Formats: sequence, structure tokens, C-alpha cells
Amino acid sequence: MAEAVKINVTKVTKSKLQDLDFGNLPFGKYFTDHMLVAKYADGAWQSVEIKPYQPLLLEPSIVAIHYGQSIFEGIKAYRYENGDAVIFRPQDNFKRFNISADRMCMPEVPEEIFLGGMKELINLDKEWIPTAADHSLYIRPFMFATDEIIGVKPSENYLFIIILSPTGPYYSAPMKICVEEVYTRAAPGGVGFAKNAGNYGASLKATVIAKQKGYDQILWTDAFEHKWLQEVGTMNVFFVIDNVAITPSLEEGTILAGVTRDTAITVLKEMGIKVEERKISINELVEAYAAGTFQEAFGTGTAATISLIQELKYKESILSFDLNKLSIAPALKERLDDIRTGKVKENHGWMVKI
Ligand SMILES: *Cc1c(COP(=O)(O)O)cnc(C)c1O
Repeated sequence: MAEAVKINVTKVTKSKLQDLDFGNLPFGKYFTDHMLVAKYADGAWQSVEIKPYQPLLLEPSIVAIHYGQSIFEGIKAYRYENGDAVIFRPQDNFKRFNISADRMCMPEVPEEIFLGGMKELINLDKEWIPTAADHSLYIRPFMFATDEIIGVKPSENYLFIIILSPTGPYYSAPMKICVEEVYTRAAPGGVGFAKNAGNYGASLKATVIAKQKGYDQILWTDAFEHKWLQEVGTMNVFFVIDNVAITPSLEEGTILAGVTRDTAITVLKEMGIKVEERKISINELVEAYAAGTFQEAFGTGTAATISLIQELKYKESILSFDLNKLSIAPALKERLDDIRTGKVKENHGWMVKI
């Protein structure tokens, strides 16, 4: 699609907003009045529409269903007391979306559609953004292949869609984590750095097994030795050893470059805490624990922001933390919450006004 993108808007005749119980908003369950749908065909974005949220009509043969050419993003918007709606770092999700698209041989989505369309959609459904503490509007942009042919090759047709879901507090209890030694989430050369649908389908089995054993999540390790640490569930992971926050580095392409991860690194440094992005093994954690220098572990992601880890299990070792003694993760969480709610000013351009 050339130059200016024309977005056709069809509004609902009757809003569903009055049916929404703002006191009961489980994550990802309710959706706003409108959605954005853009169509890609013949090598270009053909149309962009904002229309009433509704089911899709698709052929059973579409490529996304059979071969998994499908990617997504997760972003949050907030509404301040003065009525301003703001999105948290959408530019970073926009960039990451197109990195995922490239890895999956999908077309680039232009900024006017991804960000411009998102802002217009949110503006239309602004009243749906909950204002209570810890509430937000979860934004889910996604793209999938719609060629109607059962053949393994990059599709020529795509749909890019944005849906919006008002969400209440995403309480995540401190987690018990099992270090994964059988299954693999990501290997060098694979798709671990892309937010593509298949990564999540592939991760379910290991998580189900861990849950049967009484754990909340797994700590993913590398594909070859199962000792180099990658991510915790679908979150990035940080370990505090000797007052240094360590998070696995990105260069092998096995880690999803989380926006919350990047935010946490910046904010931790601003809090005067040393941060290292590097390879880190489970053996290093076990040794640090034995030496009494392993202080904290936590996960980071858009949904829960910061999730505390209370226990890590690896072979015969159980590394457990006294939740009352944690200091860095709770302080980081509070700081991130204050930034998102506008209580604390940030000067990185993270909060984007609509
Ligand atoms: C989305 C995601 C994250 C967290 O990324 P954020 O941008 O912080 O939400 C981490 N790991 C995986 C596997 C993810 O899919």
C-alpha cells in the first residue's frame, strides 16, 4: 500500500461496554467493541478496516492453521486520571513484530498500520480502558497466513488484526520452578527469538508435566547440555547474585527480547544496581546458592510485569528464597508500576500518548 493509509471505520450501532463488569476482568477474556483488520495480497497491504469485533470467516485450508505461519505481540495501554490514554513502548513491539515477520517469511507491517491503526482503534474504544489500580487494556496485534492451499511454502495472503482486551490485576503468586532437562524451547538457528504461535504450542507439554509434579513453571535450558539458562515459562528471567542482576544474553537467538526485560535492565541500572547480560548456567546458581550469594530470581513480561520466584528445583537441589528478604525484585516492580501509571516521570519516551 502506498503513502497514506486510509482506514475505513465502521462503528458498532450499540456498544457492549455497559455489560462489562470492571470488577471482574480475567486476563484475555473480554474484548472491546471494535477490531482492526488489514489485508495483504498481491505483494501489498490492500485495505485497513476498523469494524465491530466479530468472528472471522476463513477457509479450512488456510496455511496458518496447517503450517503455523502466525505471529503476535502483547502490549498494554493505560488511562490516567486526567483521561489521557497511553501505550507502553509500542514502538518496540512494532519493531519486534517485524523481526518475527521476517523470520517467518511474512510481509512487513508498516508503522501507519501497526501503530497508527492501533492508536485509532484504542481511541475509538478508549472508554474500555480500566482506570483502577493494576488494570490495563491488553493489546493483541497478530498476523497469519491465509493462502487457501495445503502446501508448505510462504503464503501470499495475510491478515493483520488487532484486538483489545480490558484486564484486571494479573496476580502471579511467587512461583515454584522446575529446571527443564528433557524438552527444549529454543535452539540456535530456530525461532526462539520470534513471537510466533508455534513456540507456545511446543512449550505446553513440558509445562503440563511440570505442573503435574507440583511446579508452576519451568526454567528452559539450552538444547545441547540442558544447563545454560534461557527463560522462565513465557517470561525472561533475572537472577541476583552478590547484588548483581544477571539475565541471559540475546546473541544466540534463543531468547525472546522482552520489552519488559529491556525496561528492567534500564530501570535496575537507574536504581544503582549492576546488570550483566551474559550466559549463565544452572551450575553457577547452585554454587552461588551454596555460597550464600544467590539472593533473588524473577521473571519479566508484559502480562505480569515481574513474577517472583520462590523456589528452583534442579536434580537433587532445591534452591529456595525467603520472600520476606527479597528487595530488588519488589522494588523494581514498584518502580515499573509507578512509571506505567504515570506516578513517576520517565525520560525514555516509553509512555506514548494516544
Ligand atoms: C512475550 C514474551 C516474553 C516477554 O516479552 P515482553 O515484551 O516483556 O512482554 C518473554 N518470553 C517469551 C517467550 C515471550 O513470548
